[in-house]
Amino acid sequence: MTRPLRVAIIGSGPAGIYASDCLMKSAAAQDPGVSIDILERMPAPFGLIRYGVAPDHPRIKGIIANLHKVLNKQQVRFFGNVEFGTDVTLDNLLQYYDAVIFATGAKADRALNIPGIDLDGSYGAAEFVAWYDGQPEFPRQWPLDSEKVAVIGVGNVSLDVSRILAKTADELHVTEIPDNVYECLKASKVKEVHVFGRRGPAQAKYTPVELRELDHSPNVQVLVNPEDIDYDKASEEARRAAKATDMVCTTLENYAMRDEDPNPDICKIYIHLFESPVEILGKDGKVAGIRTERTQLNGKGGVTGTGKTTDWEVGQVYRAVGYLSSELPGIPFNHTLGTIENVAGRVVDQAGDHIAPLYTTGWVKRGPVGLIGNTKSDANETIQNLLEDWAAGKLNQPAHPSPEEARTWLDNLPKKITDWTGWYRLDVHEKKRGAQEGRERKKIVEWDDMVNASHDTSVDEEAEADRKARGGC
Ligand SMILES: Cc1cc2nc3c(=O)[nH]c(=O)nc-3n(C[C@H](O)[C@H](O)[C@H](O)COP(=O)(O)OP(=O)(O)OC[C@H]3O[C@@H](n4cnc5c(N)ncnc54)[C@H](O)[C@@H]3O)c2cc1C
Repeated sequence: MTRPLRVAIIGSGPAGIYASDCLMKSAAAQDPGVSIDILERMPAPFGLIRYGVAPDHPRIKGIIANLHKVLNKQQVRFFGNVEFGTDVTLDNLLQYYDAVIFATGAKADRALNIPGIDLDGSYGAAEFVAWYDGQPEFPRQWPLDSEKVAVIGVGNVSLDVSRILAKTADELHVTEIPDNVYECLKASKVKEVHVFGRRGPAQAKYTPVELRELDHSPNVQVLVNPEDIDYDKASEEARRAAKATDMVCTTLENYAMRDEDPNPDICKIYIHLFESPVEILGKDGKVAGIRTERTQLNGKGGVTGTGKTTDWEVGQVYRAVGYLSSELPGIPFNHTLGTIENVAGRVVDQAGDHIAPLYTTGWVKRGPVGLIGNTKSDANETIQNLLEDWAAGKLNQPAHPSPEEARTWLDNLPKKITDWTGWYRLDVHEKKRGAQEGRERKKIVEWDDMVNASHDTSVDEEAEADRKARGGC
């Protein structure tokens, strides 16, 4: 083939961007080269780095700087405000591209089927995360009107949610949080965050650094009941086998050795292990408490219920029990795993045969677990297989393979799309808003405001200077 390989990537989270990077770097794609269009439903790129990673994790948010380098390359184009399944279909894409990679991630909460889960005041962590990270599709107001709240789950998202609930608004003001989030946090009444996990310290899904930094704030104290520190033979083995597990156990043990700070202004995060939430208790349709059943280790690292229940008085419950990917129209989906049906990144039909030229990568390929870095190895595997199929002549033969034709098609969609130049403009606007308050950035929340900022040519001089400074072409 004499023209570059044309690939559409659906989703501009880390998975989609690392897939572009991998494709461009691959020796197999050097000649005649690759030409990639990333289509993203949001007006801005970066997926959960923008709308999931907590605002008080600037180092992780900073990964965006590296992803910039990929999107700055001339072989890659970004088109935002374009949703696969609504604005564009698979048939459309096959007119313009040799292959399509789905990197649509996950944004919903996994269900938790316990009585009372639908009560007013019972929330999914993904909703709360999207709210504090300024995702435009979520409410502007969040009623933090209870002194005591519960968080279900002992993984990193639970840590984020607990920390944001516990920290003061002023501590978070230095971050990129928008005004509406700051105002709601300022009015927060939360004084106690009760975190519940059904298993023990050696089974907690925390990562050590995140657990250790949970109360790196003068306004927060983390406490664990010493009775919740318990190990069976399998737990001891798990500690010996994995350094990270051992470090998590040690940190939890340290939290269990503390005396509670009597200062009522310090928000307490109580981590309750071996307490399995069995019901959310309500009064007048609103959350009034949570009932847990005490569990005990079964010798194999698992737990069994003891039948002993405790009612905890709380006014809100946040369930951090995992994210869930959404099914895409016309793309085979495994509802049990919550992933696109695939074998090593090749999308397959029910018989297990590859539906050439479709591929997938990231959370929607593998399930919503793992860190940003894990999406790199996902991308490597998917791209290797795509290039193998390309060499074997198995990809699509699009009627309109030129990048210009695809651009004309996208420009003619019945809505205003955004592009990479638009991101630089939006970036200028957000940084200017932040600078007025001595902050690095303040997020623009409203969807239309993001689109309009992306089309605001009045900031082109600054946007262009920034682009050059970042090595953009
Ligand atoms: C609350 C939270 C905090 C986290 N914190 C950290 C952390 O501190 N450190 C860390 O390493 N990892 C963290 N992670 C994990 C990290 O966010 C994921 O590993 C990573 O984002 C997965 O990348 P992805 O590209 O597969 O999915 P996503 O980041 O979800 O990106 C998918 C993209 O696809 C777009 N999309 C979806 N559907 C469509 C469609 N139909 N058409 C077009 N576009 C579409 C989405 O808008 C999104 O931009 C966190 C995750 C969560 C949920």
